[in-house]
Amino acid sequence: MISAQAIHKAFGGNEVLRGVSLDLMRGEVVAVIGPSGSGKSTFLRCLNHLETIDSGTVIVEGEVLAQNDASGKAQYVSDAQIRKIGHKMGMVFQSFNLFPHLTVLENIIEAPMLVQKIKRSEIVPKAEALLKKVGLLEKRDAYPNRLSGGQKQRVAIARALAMDPDIMLFDEPTSALDPELTGEVLRTMRELAQDRMTMLVVTHEMGFAREVANRVIFMDGGNIVEQATAEAFFANPQHERTQAFLQNML
Ligand code: ATP
Ligand code: MG
Repeated sequence: MISAQAIHKAFGGNEVLRGVSLDLMRGEVVAVIGPSGSGKSTFLRCLNHLETIDSGTVIVEGEVLAQNDASGKAQYVSDAQIRKIGHKMGMVFQSFNLFPHLTVLENIIEAPMLVQKIKRSEIVPKAEALLKKVGLLEKRDAYPNRLSGGQKQRVAIARALAMDPDIMLFDEPTSALDPELTGEVLRTMRELAQDRMTMLVVTHEMGFAREVANRVIFMDGGNIVEQATAEAFFANPQHERTQAFLQNML
Protein backbone atom coordinates (compact mmCIF):
# COMPACT_ATOMS: atom_id res chain seq x y z
CA MET A 1 0.00 0.00 0.00
CA ILE A 2 2.60 2.53 1.13
CA SER A 3 6.26 1.73 1.04
CA ALA A 4 8.57 4.42 2.35
CA GLN A 5 12.28 3.67 2.40
CA ALA A 6 15.09 5.64 4.04
CA ILE A 7 13.27 8.97 4.04
CA HIS A 8 15.49 11.93 4.81
CA LYS A 9 14.16 15.42 5.29
CA ALA A 10 15.86 18.54 6.62
CA PHE A 11 14.54 22.05 7.14
CA GLY A 12 17.61 24.21 6.64
CA GLY A 13 20.25 22.54 8.78
CA ASN A 14 17.69 20.78 10.95
CA GLU A 15 17.53 17.11 10.01
CA VAL A 16 14.00 16.14 10.94
CA LEU A 17 13.76 12.69 9.34
CA ARG A 18 16.93 10.62 9.44
CA GLY A 19 16.17 7.61 7.32
CA VAL A 20 12.63 6.59 8.20
CA SER A 21 11.27 3.41 6.57
CA LEU A 22 7.77 2.04 6.80
CA ASP A 23 5.69 -0.49 4.89
CA LEU A 24 1.99 -0.10 5.42
CA MET A 25 -0.02 -3.13 4.29
CA ARG A 26 -3.56 -3.13 2.95
CA GLY A 27 -6.12 -3.05 5.75
CA GLU A 28 -3.50 -2.36 8.36
CA VAL A 29 -3.90 0.27 11.08
CA VAL A 30 -0.58 1.68 12.25
CA ALA A 31 -0.29 4.15 15.11
CA VAL A 32 2.66 6.54 15.18
CA ILE A 33 3.57 7.87 18.58
CA GLY A 34 6.49 9.83 19.96
CA PRO A 35 7.48 13.07 21.65
CA SER A 36 6.79 16.52 20.25
CA GLY A 37 9.23 17.46 17.50
CA SER A 38 10.20 13.86 16.73
CA GLY A 39 9.09 14.22 13.10
CA LYS A 40 5.72 12.44 13.12
CA SER A 41 3.79 15.12 11.24
CA THR A 42 6.64 15.74 8.85
CA PHE A 43 6.76 12.04 8.03
CA LEU A 44 3.04 11.93 7.27
CA ARG A 45 3.30 15.08 5.19
CA CYS A 46 6.17 13.58 3.19
CA LEU A 47 4.03 10.57 2.32
CA ASN A 48 1.33 12.64 0.67
CA HIS A 49 3.65 15.29 -0.73
CA LEU A 50 2.66 18.15 1.53
CA GLU A 51 6.43 18.20 2.08
CA THR A 52 9.10 17.08 -0.37
CA ILE A 53 11.71 14.59 0.75
CA ASP A 54 15.46 15.09 0.28
CA SER A 55 16.22 11.45 -0.31
CA GLY A 56 14.51 8.09 -0.10
CA THR A 57 11.71 6.27 -1.86
CA VAL A 58 7.95 6.65 -1.56
CA ILE A 59 5.72 4.14 -3.35
CA VAL A 60 1.94 4.29 -2.98
CA GLU A 61 -0.24 1.48 -4.24
CA GLY A 62 2.61 0.26 -6.42
CA GLU A 63 3.18 3.69 -7.97
CA VAL A 64 6.43 5.53 -7.39
CA LEU A 65 6.02 9.04 -6.03
CA ALA A 66 9.72 9.73 -5.49
CA GLN A 67 12.97 7.81 -5.61
CA ASN A 68 16.67 8.56 -5.53
CA ASP A 69 18.64 9.39 -8.65
CA ALA A 70 22.22 8.27 -9.15
CA SER A 71 23.48 11.02 -6.85
CA GLY A 72 21.20 9.85 -4.04
CA LYS A 73 18.81 12.78 -4.24
CA ALA A 74 15.05 12.16 -4.39
CA GLN A 75 13.42 12.83 -7.75
CA TYR A 76 9.68 13.18 -8.07
CA VAL A 77 7.48 11.89 -10.86
CA SER A 78 5.44 14.29 -13.02
CA ASP A 79 2.95 16.71 -11.46
CA ALA A 80 0.06 14.81 -13.03
CA GLN A 81 1.33 11.57 -11.51
CA ILE A 82 1.87 13.26 -8.14
CA ARG A 83 -1.74 14.45 -8.15
CA LYS A 84 -2.99 11.01 -9.11
CA ILE A 85 -1.05 9.40 -6.27
CA GLY A 86 -2.16 12.14 -3.88
CA HIS A 87 -5.79 11.23 -4.46
CA LYS A 88 -5.15 7.74 -3.16
CA MET A 89 -4.64 9.24 0.29
CA GLY A 90 -7.09 11.12 2.47
CA MET A 91 -5.75 13.24 5.29
CA VAL A 92 -7.34 14.48 8.50
CA PHE A 93 -5.54 17.14 10.52
CA GLN A 94 -5.63 18.26 14.10
CA SER A 95 -7.31 21.50 13.02
CA PHE A 96 -10.31 20.44 11.01
CA ASN A 97 -9.70 22.78 8.05
CA LEU A 98 -13.33 22.85 6.96
CA PHE A 99 -14.34 25.65 4.60
CA PRO A 100 -16.25 28.06 6.89
CA HIS A 101 -18.36 29.56 4.09
CA LEU A 102 -19.64 26.17 2.91
CA THR A 103 -22.27 23.97 4.55
CA VAL A 104 -21.38 20.51 5.78
CA LEU A 105 -22.70 18.93 2.59
CA GLU A 106 -20.92 21.44 0.37
CA ASN A 107 -17.67 20.84 2.25
CA ILE A 108 -17.92 17.15 1.41
CA ILE A 109 -18.89 17.41 -2.25
CA GLU A 110 -16.51 20.25 -3.17
CA ALA A 111 -13.41 18.22 -3.97
CA PRO A 112 -15.14 15.28 -5.70
CA MET A 113 -16.94 17.76 -7.97
CA LEU A 114 -13.94 20.02 -8.67
CA VAL A 115 -11.16 17.47 -8.71
CA GLN A 116 -12.81 14.25 -9.79
CA LYS A 117 -15.49 15.97 -11.94
CA ILE A 118 -18.23 13.89 -10.37
CA LYS A 119 -21.74 15.14 -11.04
CA ARG A 120 -23.58 16.78 -8.16
CA SER A 121 -26.49 14.36 -8.54
CA GLU A 122 -24.08 11.48 -8.07
CA ILE A 123 -22.00 12.82 -5.22
CA VAL A 124 -24.82 14.20 -3.05
CA PRO A 125 -26.29 10.76 -2.20
CA LYS A 126 -22.82 9.49 -1.50
CA ALA A 127 -22.07 12.47 0.75
CA GLU A 128 -25.34 11.84 2.59
CA ALA A 129 -24.41 8.20 3.08
CA LEU A 130 -21.04 9.27 4.50
CA LEU A 131 -22.73 11.77 6.81
CA LYS A 132 -25.00 9.01 8.01
CA LYS A 133 -21.98 6.82 8.60
CA VAL A 134 -20.34 9.45 10.82
CA GLY A 135 -23.68 10.13 12.51
CA LEU A 136 -24.22 13.67 11.23
CA LEU A 137 -26.87 13.47 8.54
CA GLU A 138 -29.00 15.98 10.44
CA LYS A 139 -26.16 18.53 10.14
CA ARG A 140 -26.18 18.31 6.34
CA ASP A 141 -27.06 21.99 5.81
CA ALA A 142 -25.34 23.48 8.85
CA TYR A 143 -22.27 25.70 8.63
CA PRO A 144 -19.10 24.58 10.40
CA ASN A 145 -19.31 27.32 13.05
CA ARG A 146 -22.51 25.65 14.29
CA LEU A 147 -20.74 22.37 14.98
CA SER A 148 -18.81 21.13 17.98
CA GLY A 149 -15.15 20.23 17.49
CA GLY A 150 -15.97 16.55 17.45
CA GLN A 151 -18.67 17.07 14.84
CA LYS A 152 -16.30 19.17 12.71
CA GLN A 153 -13.72 16.43 12.84
CA ARG A 154 -16.25 13.80 11.81
CA VAL A 155 -17.24 15.99 8.86
CA ALA A 156 -13.54 16.27 7.99
CA ILE A 157 -13.32 12.48 8.01
CA ALA A 158 -16.41 12.19 5.80
CA ARG A 159 -14.93 14.78 3.46
CA ALA A 160 -11.70 12.81 3.11
CA LEU A 161 -13.67 9.59 2.52
CA ALA A 162 -15.72 11.22 -0.24
CA MET A 163 -12.61 11.10 -2.45
CA ASP A 164 -12.54 7.30 -2.15
CA PRO A 165 -9.03 7.11 -0.74
CA ASP A 166 -7.19 3.80 -0.45
CA ILE A 167 -5.36 5.05 2.61
CA MET A 168 -6.30 7.47 5.37
CA LEU A 169 -3.64 9.51 7.16
CA PHE A 170 -4.56 11.08 10.49
CA ASP A 171 -2.40 13.64 12.27
CA GLU A 172 -3.52 13.89 15.89
CA PRO A 173 -7.19 14.09 14.93
CA THR A 174 -8.36 14.43 18.52
CA SER A 175 -5.66 16.67 20.01
CA ALA A 176 -7.61 19.89 19.52
CA LEU A 177 -10.78 18.48 21.09
CA ASP A 178 -12.14 18.75 24.58
CA PRO A 179 -11.73 15.37 26.27
CA GLU A 180 -15.47 14.63 26.19
CA LEU A 181 -15.49 15.00 22.39
CA THR A 182 -12.57 12.71 21.57
CA GLY A 183 -14.67 9.57 22.04
CA GLU A 184 -17.02 10.22 19.13
CA VAL A 185 -14.11 10.84 16.74
CA LEU A 186 -12.21 7.79 17.94
CA ARG A 187 -15.39 5.73 17.51
CA THR A 188 -15.68 6.87 13.90
CA MET A 189 -12.05 5.93 13.31
CA ARG A 190 -12.55 2.58 14.97
CA GLU A 191 -15.47 1.86 12.63
CA LEU A 192 -13.30 2.82 9.69
CA ALA A 193 -10.70 0.34 10.88
CA GLN A 194 -13.39 -2.33 11.19
CA ASP A 195 -14.30 -1.62 7.55
CA ARG A 196 -10.67 -2.55 6.79
CA MET A 197 -9.55 0.92 5.78
CA THR A 198 -5.76 1.21 5.66
CA MET A 199 -4.85 3.83 8.24
CA LEU A 200 -1.74 5.59 9.48
CA VAL A 201 -2.57 7.50 12.64
CA VAL A 202 -0.36 9.89 14.58
CA THR A 203 -1.93 9.96 18.00
CA HIS A 204 -1.47 10.59 21.69
CA GLU A 205 -4.42 8.34 22.44
CA MET A 206 -2.70 5.28 23.85
CA GLY A 207 -6.02 3.50 24.37
CA PHE A 208 -6.81 3.84 20.68
CA ALA A 209 -3.31 2.71 19.69
CA ARG A 210 -3.54 -0.30 21.94
CA GLU A 211 -7.05 -1.38 20.95
CA VAL A 212 -7.36 -0.43 17.31
CA ALA A 213 -3.86 -0.37 15.83
CA ASN A 214 -2.31 -3.55 14.50
CA ARG A 215 1.14 -2.08 14.84
CA VAL A 216 2.66 0.76 16.80
CA ILE A 217 5.65 2.83 15.73
CA PHE A 218 7.60 4.94 18.17
CA MET A 219 9.52 7.86 16.69
CA ASP A 220 12.15 9.93 18.43
CA GLY A 221 14.65 12.39 17.00
CA GLY A 222 13.69 11.72 13.40
CA ASN A 223 14.08 7.95 13.65
CA ILE A 224 11.79 5.01 14.20
CA VAL A 225 13.21 3.80 17.46
CA GLU A 226 10.91 0.85 17.95
CA GLN A 227 7.96 -0.85 16.32
CA ALA A 228 5.93 -3.88 17.25
CA THR A 229 2.43 -5.27 17.26
CA ALA A 230 0.26 -3.13 19.52
CA GLU A 231 0.08 -5.95 22.02
CA ALA A 232 3.83 -6.49 22.23
CA PHE A 233 4.57 -2.79 22.12
CA PHE A 234 2.56 -1.95 25.22
CA ALA A 235 3.19 -5.16 27.11
CA ASN A 236 6.91 -5.22 26.58
CA PRO A 237 8.51 -2.06 25.18
CA GLN A 238 12.13 -2.79 24.38
CA HIS A 239 13.83 0.56 24.09
CA GLU A 240 14.62 2.72 27.06
CA ARG A 241 13.24 5.81 25.32
CA THR A 242 9.99 4.00 24.53
CA GLN A 243 9.66 2.93 28.13
CA ALA A 244 10.25 6.48 29.37
CA PHE A 245 7.73 7.87 26.87
CA LEU A 246 5.06 5.36 27.81
CA GLN A 247 5.62 5.97 31.48
CA ASN A 248 4.90 9.66 30.93
CA MET A 249 1.81 8.93 28.87
CA LEU A 250 0.08 6.36 31.03
P1 ATP B 1 4.19 17.26 17.59
O1 ATP B 1 3.93 16.05 18.45
O2 ATP B 1 4.47 18.48 18.43
O3 ATP B 1 3.13 17.49 16.56
P2 ATP B 1 5.92 16.14 15.52
O4 ATP B 1 6.53 14.84 15.94
O5 ATP B 1 4.73 16.08 14.64
O6 ATP B 1 5.60 16.99 16.83
P3 ATP B 1 7.07 17.71 13.43
O7 ATP B 1 5.97 18.69 13.32
O8 ATP B 1 7.22 16.72 12.35
O9 ATP B 1 7.07 16.98 14.83
O10 ATP B 1 8.39 18.58 13.55
C1 ATP B 1 9.68 17.99 13.60
C2 ATP B 1 10.72 19.10 13.56
O11 ATP B 1 10.67 19.74 12.28
C3 ATP B 1 10.54 20.19 14.58
O12 ATP B 1 11.80 20.54 15.06
C4 ATP B 1 9.92 21.32 13.79
O13 ATP B 1 10.26 22.55 14.33
C5 ATP B 1 10.52 21.13 12.42
N1 ATP B 1 9.63 21.60 11.33
C6 ATP B 1 8.44 21.06 11.00
N2 ATP B 1 7.91 21.69 9.95
C7 ATP B 1 8.79 22.67 9.60
C8 ATP B 1 8.82 23.67 8.59
N3 ATP B 1 7.82 23.78 7.69
N4 ATP B 1 9.89 24.49 8.55
C9 ATP B 1 10.90 24.37 9.43
N5 ATP B 1 10.94 23.44 10.40
C10 ATP B 1 9.90 22.60 10.50
MG1 MG C 1 2.80 16.82 14.77
